[in-house]
Amino acid sequence: MRALVLHAPKSPLVLEERPAPRPGPGEVLLRVRACAVCRTDLHVVDGELPDPRLPLVPGHQIVGEVLEEVPAPGERPRFSPGTRVGVPWLGWTCGACAHCRAGRENLCDRARFTGYQIDGGYAELAVADARFCFPIPDGFPDLSAAPLLCAGLIGYRTLRMAGDAERIGIYGFGAAAHLVVQVARFEGRRIYGFVRPGDDVARAFALSMGAEWAGFSPDAPPEELDAALIFAPAGELVPAALRAVRKGGVVVCGGIHMSDIPSFPYSLLWGERGVRSVANLTRRDGEEFLALAPRVPVRTEVTVYPLEEANTALDDLRNGRFSGAAVLVPS
Ligand SMILES: [Zn+2]
Ligand SMILES: [Zn+2]
Repeated sequence: MRALVLHAPKSPLVLEERPAPRPGPGEVLLRVRACAVCRTDLHVVDGELPDPRLPLVPGHQIVGEVLEEVPAPGERPRFSPGTRVGVPWLGWTCGACAHCRAGRENLCDRARFTGYQIDGGYAELAVADARFCFPIPDGFPDLSAAPLLCAGLIGYRTLRMAGDAERIGIYGFGAAAHLVVQVARFEGRRIYGFVRPGDDVARAFALSMGAEWAGFSPDAPPEELDAALIFAPAGELVPAALRAVRKGGVVVCGGIHMSDIPSFPYSLLWGERGVRSVANLTRRDGEEFLALAPRVPVRTEVTVYPLEEANTALDDLRNGRFSGAAVLVPS
């Protein structure tokens, strides 16, 4: 099979012919139909996340067709051949640590992640733990479904951390934001979009997706916000967002990596404002979000790249050259 392989951080992925992977007990072998590109892939390739398994096939938003499943001893198969399933970032958890037992498997001490410690979907075939795969709802084409698996899921978890906030600021209007804004609007919330200063294309995109106001990130919104969600990996957005939220409001950081947060006066945090991060996802997030997405219905804006152009897709993401989500498709 063909795969795009990372041999060392800060180097381009290499297109290689590899032997087909073999599923072990409890695993499925998938033919990859689409794999969306996440900013986390860029952080892995750019060496901003520690200790990826090398060599590595990146990609953790896989829509695949089940070719074969090897059930775990004493268990029945979860999927029949031909079923379309999604493979997210959370690839394996221990089930035994304090976090797993408390229903917070996203924080598992021994968790392994797809496209980081487990080979991912920048390939024609992939193997995944069947317990961590989700059936893809009917009616979602492969290309539209792929970005739901991380941009959608992490966006959903980030939105949940904002509680019942009505006026929500979203900083960084990329793949996650363009999905979460649809869910938020479906729930009757009001969205204020913040984009990189001067990026009029992103500002227009935020408005077209249903933000009722969109401006540049240092700007003050026309009204105080109840919560802010930060998807851009820029630490200076944290004090900017704190400045925009009301007393008791929360700023939720949805990314896995962020540049350092500059120091800021305590008065910005005063008034019981909060700052928190969102780490990974639980399987429950996935089940809830994939049940909700068809009801909204969530629409995804995608830019398609052939698998072998993964480096171009990553570069375009790095430079903000497309709106919505990039999706790789094996030819
Ligand atoms: Zn655990
Ligand atoms: Zn991701």
